[in-house]
Amino acid sequence: MGRQFTKPAKAKTADGVRAPAPHVEMTVRGIRVELLRKEIKNLHLRVYPPDGRVRISAPRNLPISSVVEMIEQRIEWIQAQQLRVSGTVKRLEYQDGETHWFGGSPFRLRVIENAGRANVEIAEPGIIELRTRQICSDEERRKLLESWYRGQVRLRAAPMFERWTEVLGVEVREWRIRKMSTRWGSCNVRERRIWLSLDLSRKSDECLEYVVVHELVHLLEPGHGPRFVARMDRAISNWRDLKRKLNALT
Ligand SMILES: [Zn+2]
Repeated sequence: MGRQFTKPAKAKTADGVRAPAPHVEMTVRGIRVELLRKEIKNLHLRVYPPDGRVRISAPRNLPISSVVEMIEQRIEWIQAQQLRVSGTVKRLEYQDGETHWFGGSPFRLRVIENAGRANVEIAEPGIIELRTRQICSDEERRKLLESWYRGQVRLRAAPMFERWTEVLGVEVREWRIRKMSTRWGSCNVRERRIWLSLDLSRKSDECLEYVVVHELVHLLEPGHGPRFVARMDRAISNWRDLKRKLNALT
């Protein structure tokens, strides 16, 4: 996510009609939004860490009502992004009884300490059981669970990479699971290297697959332009729904 600072351009006048102000702050349904007017064709909406600041870039002549409408349509996405970037969603304590989302469903965490050896498993439907050798700190429990989550994402994603590299005819040199705070995945096209967010452990297979395919398609189309979209449409026809699910709160 490139952060660009653009100086507000001077408002041009044509035929005596005043151009829209280049830089405006407004509030839409309780969310403060910074609006920049630019020489662009499409709206761009970004939520920035660490405080979830919202900035929208809009074409100069687009009516303000259209800008507001777009923000309203994406209000849930904005709120989810704000929680993600501020870390609120992740403030888990890894305590017994806590709810953890895993593979698209809620699980209850069962912590059993002094259990002889450390182990994490789905002990019964809806329960993730964390056994530890001794009494552990939140930090130690977090590490045990995260390493299990990482292994699970790896297990789930491996056949997806296998399938989709073949379907799309691309080659990946390396893929890894990392802690990423603002994105679900990234693709270094030159290095042919893909990173997936560890947070994908919370998401369903279809959402995970959408991210895998999205990043693999970048090996063919680096940007998100019409050619990228066309390839996504061909690969996963309902990818827009999956994207929405992915960015929903849970
Ligand atoms: Zn992308």
